[in-house]
Amino acid sequence: MLRARTIVVVKQMSVLQFQTTQGNHITLNARAESTVIMRDNALSYTFDYSGRLVGAFRDGKNYRRSFANQILEKASGARPGLSGRLRRTLTAAQVRALEVDAYDFAHAITSELRRLEPAAQNKAYDAAQSALAHINRYCYTSLERERELYEHIYHPVTILPPDQYLALYLQMTEGCAFNACTFCGFYRDRRFHIKPPEVFHEHIRRVRAFIGEGLRLRRAIFLGDANALVIHQKMLLPRFDIVNQEFDIVPRGLARDARRAWRNAHPLHFDGIYSFIDAFSSKQKRARDFAALAERGLRRVYVGLETGDAELLTFLGKPNTPNDVARLVNECKEGGVAVGIIVLVGAGGTKFEHAHIQHTTDLIHALPLDEHDLIYLSELTDFPNSTYSQHAAEAGIPPMNGSEIEKQMRVLRDAFQFRDRAHTPRVSWYDIREFVY
Ligand code: SF4
Repeated sequence: MLRARTIVVVKQMSVLQFQTTQGNHITLNARAESTVIMRDNALSYTFDYSGRLVGAFRDGKNYRRSFANQILEKASGARPGLSGRLRRTLTAAQVRALEVDAYDFAHAITSELRRLEPAAQNKAYDAAQSALAHINRYCYTSLERERELYEHIYHPVTILPPDQYLALYLQMTEGCAFNACTFCGFYRDRRFHIKPPEVFHEHIRRVRAFIGEGLRLRRAIFLGDANALVIHQKMLLPRFDIVNQEFDIVPRGLARDARRAWRNAHPLHFDGIYSFIDAFSSKQKRARDFAALAERGLRRVYVGLETGDAELLTFLGKPNTPNDVARLVNECKEGGVAVGIIVLVGAGGTKFEHAHIQHTTDLIHALPLDEHDLIYLSELTDFPNSTYSQHAAEAGIPPMNGSEIEKQMRVLRDAFQFRDRAHTPRVSWYDIREFVY
């Protein structure tokens, strides 16, 4: 017989805690968007509302699962910092083993819950039962079947900014309109193209049917791929209208209480629309264009500045100047759209280091950034046989080692000083090796 230890119900969140006859402490947190089942604070599995496994914590290691049924394992390494972290993609056999364990565990918890004393059965108990019923619809085989579906619906989602890892990804365009930066291999497997409105609309319907109630876990909408906003404004607005037709997006400017009321009235809603943008294909976009997109839900765009040093930017094969990025950021901000600026740490090695840090810092300080904006420091992670490595080898520039990267990150971070401390952009890390979708 199981003993109910504590039962807590916190607003929309239901937490059920109990102790098994084997003495294990179980915490089952059945939230509106996901369910976490934890044993003895040492093992946990996270499922989306539909019941798909999305993450795990076992033996001190974190796991994140993708729709493509791949699992990334992360753990601290011997050296502190991002560059010292251990990461690996599990083999197919390891994925299977972990998923079988996760669903066996959920089944075991389900059987034990059935035996809980009647006094322990309340709202939290009901929420747990309902969440487990969803989880038990899944197993390793159904996740594998979903992988095939995912591959039909998406050209693989190759990258998102870290704050958007849980976004709902809509592939309005595929690939990159430029696809030739020397260090970037994200979209080499596809030709750039813009989906006609009806094809885009059908894509949204298929995504929606595929993710189902798992959509509750998704807080934002991200328009892919690399430069979806390259689309001419006249053709872009109807596509934003389609997104708004399909999904509820929190209106701008609501006071706190009104925002809460709106959210309660729209249980499946999104905080906004987000996208990458570049400083060359978007040259025609002006503040009024961004304002029109902001009216339709665009909240932030992410731009690869890479560096404020013009010579290094040319070396990286970018077809724009740092000033083009400054112009773009000014237009976005004037139009009411926030920005996420990505700086490439380690680019150009020690040869460019001084100029990279100095000119990047100068440019960042010249931008009208505030608390709605982000600055990401992203380690240069080359792809095999890249043009960048060939150019670097020819120029006698060896790749920076982990300690040099960590140092450059710290120096950049310390160099960014904002006078208005109440309205400072957040500076954070961005490790492209940790992305799965
Ligand atoms: S860095 Fe951006 S613009 Fe350059 S090739 Fe990659 S996705 Fe395209």
